[in-house]
Amino acid sequence: MTSPTYVLGVDIGTTSTKAVLFTDTGDIVEKAAVGYPLNRPTPEAAEQDPEEICDAVKTSVGNVMAQSDIAPSQVRCLSFSAAMHSLILLDAANEPLTASITWADNRSADWASKIRHSHGHDIYQRTGTPIHPMSPLVKLVWLRHDHPDLFKRASRFVSIKEYVLFQLCRDFVVDYSIAGATGLFNLNTLNWDAAALDLAGVSAQKLSCLVPTTHVMPPLQAACAAEMGLARETPVVVGASDGCLANLGVGAIAPGTVAITLGTSGAIRTVAPQPQTDPNEILFCYPLTAQHWVIGGAVNNGGIVFQWVRDRLAATEVATAELLQQDAYDILTDMAATIPPGADGILFHPYLAGERSPLWNADARGSFFGLALHHTKAHLVRAVLEGVVFNLRLVLEALEEAAGKAETIRASGGFAQSALWRQILADICDRPITVPESYEASCFGAALLGLCALGDIPSLEEAAKRVQASHDQTPIAENVARYQPLIPIYGRLLDCFKREYGPLARLSTHLKDNL
Ligand code: ADP
Repeated sequence: MTSPTYVLGVDIGTTSTKAVLFTDTGDIVEKAAVGYPLNRPTPEAAEQDPEEICDAVKTSVGNVMAQSDIAPSQVRCLSFSAAMHSLILLDAANEPLTASITWADNRSADWASKIRHSHGHDIYQRTGTPIHPMSPLVKLVWLRHDHPDLFKRASRFVSIKEYVLFQLCRDFVVDYSIAGATGLFNLNTLNWDAAALDLAGVSAQKLSCLVPTTHVMPPLQAACAAEMGLARETPVVVGASDGCLANLGVGAIAPGTVAITLGTSGAIRTVAPQPQTDPNEILFCYPLTAQHWVIGGAVNNGGIVFQWVRDRLAATEVATAELLQQDAYDILTDMAATIPPGADGILFHPYLAGERSPLWNADARGSFFGLALHHTKAHLVRAVLEGVVFNLRLVLEALEEAAGKAETIRASGGFAQSALWRQILADICDRPITVPESYEASCFGAALLGLCALGDIPSLEEAAKRVQASHDQTPIAENVARYQPLIPIYGRLLDCFKREYGPLARLSTHLKDNL
């Protein structure tokens, strides 16, 4: 009898690195997470320590292996997911000159707006990465112009994943998926984009070697293998980015299937057989493989807005929750469930954190519209849950315009713990929603991709069949009928508000400066 095989998916995320050991049929055997801070030395900066993240990768894998009683030889492979858009400058000795500058870093905002108003649209069309301070291209332009000494000292420009893999396997490679989110990668040639490199002032020699996401790395360094409890010969598959792998991890890989993630932030993505950008620049396009292009939009204002309600507006409910040993979110959603769909005429625009898709406007702000004297806190909570979904629907519409109708929606993220919020999503999108088992989608996607890379699963389509579903939420006709007339009002209000976000932001800055 052959011994069972296992596969390790590792996701290098923004708040932690998660390692999950799966059986080859997708059951979780063990998991571990090691967190690290997102440092904000100034309000605009959002950086992390590359060494701390390397340690977290080794510790999380080491912990998983220590907790399980399987032999290193039973691990079929280790495969990686990572957050997109990070940038680290390295010196000639491959030592970091900077921290890992993450997607959340806003210091290049002025350069983003300059590029957007010059040749930004052409670059977006070729690279699929929206022109935004999150993009490594924009960060490079900022560093080149505003920190020329530092920029000139850099011998190499890498992402956090390249840095970690270099520490583990001593080779600088970048998978198409992570490269595809740098703003430097040409979607049609699968190579660096000459004009984008020129704008960034970077030559291809200073970037890592491009490889497909199924690439197998050179053997693990002996010390690293020992620290992680793996064998040196355990294959390390380079893997892809977290967003692309989340689609695979929830089984949304076929055209017509859309993945909605609603965690702290949110995203809507689908997979197309060829690259595709959109004329309005609402959507991104990143490769998973040369035959699987993930197109979609990321929103800032997901669950973080509900978190704001809990932390800033719901002291009584939080205290009650503590007393009853319940989750405050459950108390708040129970309150919201007492109000009928449509929140009795209140519309909430959720842009508390500025917005990426569909607005790409850091100055956007939140608002309640339609308030009357009889409205209560429960109405406001319901309006917030609905407003987050009205915004997601706008991104869904843009995606459907680009990629065709979403026949099936697979939803994941913290919101799915609430039956009410799941129902609101099904009703406002007027589509049945399937929620896959709540394991880490990106880790599972990485594990599945690893098995494809080694030929154990013949295709990503076959891999997606291994995803099991736990909830199905069907739209309720009566609720859909209540939401339908509100959707165009939400959009028309947004068109009005959009004109005032910039002036209001400038006024706020002016008022602050004159305090
Ligand atoms: P992350 O994206 O950081 O991994 P999660 O996927 O865990 O985060 O999602 C966190 C969000 O999920 C919270 O901000 C909150 O809005 C939402 N959430 C968590 N628990 C509940 C709950 N019981 N009911 C409704 N929403 C919840």
